[in-house]
Amino acid sequence: MEKYIPNMYKKSIYDINYKKLKQMGMKYLFFDLDNTLISYLDNIPTDENIKLFNKLNKMGFKCFIFSNSNNKRLIPFKEKLNVEIFTGSMKPLKKNYKKIIKKYDKDKCVFIGDQIMTDVIGAKRNDLYVIFVDRIDDREPIYTKFWRFFERIILKKYKKQNKLIKGKYYE
Ligand SMILES: [Mg+2]
Repeated sequence: MEKYIPNMYKKSIYDINYKKLKQMGMKYLFFDLDNTLISYLDNIPTDENIKLFNKLNKMGFKCFIFSNSNNKRLIPFKEKLNVEIFTGSMKPLKKNYKKIIKKYDKDKCVFIGDQIMTDVIGAKRNDLYVIFVDRIDDREPIYTKFWRFFERIILKKYKKQNKLIKGKYYE
């Protein structure tokens, strides 16, 4: 389980030190959508989202949304945030990560998401840099609640080992 500890843990995507990522040589940012950018109840980008992605584009990052959600849900984000989208990513399965690694230098890729079972484990299984963020909203669909059950078990273990404690952010 140890290899599934996120490289960085922040409260939200707005608290990430993007300058530091830049200095580390990172170039490609792959964001999860649901409960990372917006809540499950929303379906268009927020003003805060737009502002952040403008800033990231200006900083020279290439941004993507890498989501298990469907194409229809992702389209408004593609248009308003100027990002490429990967839909139906089937995280944590390796298949779609492999496609990305083939195309982009994996040492320059950062994955960002709110779930241990999908975002963190998916990236770490492929030896990718991953940032874990707190979820935006507790209201989640049943399949996410299913993953959260296992997440709680893992987080409990990490807490015992003093490795990752909810609310104790690090970079
Ligand atoms: Mg999510």
